[in-house]
Amino acid sequence: NEQTGNDVDDFVEGSQVDSMTSLLNKRAITDYGKEAVRSGGQVSIVMMDVDNFKMINDTYGHLFGDNVITAVADVIKKTVGENGAAGRVGGDEFMLVIKDFVDEAGLSNYLRTIKTNVEALFQDKLGIHRVSCSIGASRSGIDSDEYKALVRIADKTLYIAKHKGRNRFIIYSEEKHGQFHMLEEGYDMAEIRDAFYS
Ligand code: GH3
Ligand code: MG
Repeated sequence: NEQTGNDVDDFVEGSQVDSMTSLLNKRAITDYGKEAVRSGGQVSIVMMDVDNFKMINDTYGHLFGDNVITAVADVIKKTVGENGAAGRVGGDEFMLVIKDFVDEAGLSNYLRTIKTNVEALFQDKLGIHRVSCSIGASRSGIDSDEYKALVRIADKTLYIAKHKGRNRFIIYSEEKHGQFHMLEEGYDMAEIRDAFYS
């Protein structure tokens, strides 16, 4: 809260909900994701981060930044609907658990809808400065059956999306992106990028 200037406690102990967005908080979406993966159905773990959000705060003010976070959360909520859950896991970072998306095209549809609807937010006010987001996704059964590994893969895929220029979604594919999920936590992003570009 010191960092964000919020005067409301976003992560109240025992609570399930992020008070600013009404999405799940980090602990609750983590529990949901673990249970979804454990139950063995088809699950995608999606990490998503608003692009250049510091610039939005600096240019338009912190209160407008808050409105952007809330509006992005609403887009996520509407898109995920009953087919999973979503949480706010950091200032401008979200985690989604999407179930029963059938195939890669089905998952792409969810992610494209989010990307497109986020770009449409506050167009009147922002003009060419659109709000955008970057998204990385992993899939159970294909990439791993372990929750932690799926989160790590989604997270690193998000960083690839940022590195490739932001405003895009990437569904991890070992063929395209290499085996960077084999790396332990704490590895330098430079090594992951090297692996990716090789
Ligand atoms: P990138 O495209 O690499 O993500 O760039 P970025 O500027 O978005 O960088 P980053 O995601 O690291 O920045 C997040 C910023 O979000 C930092 C912090 O000042 C701001 N922030 C965090 N929580 C809140 C909040 O609750 N409200 C507002 N308005 N800003 C927040
Ligand atoms: Mg950001």
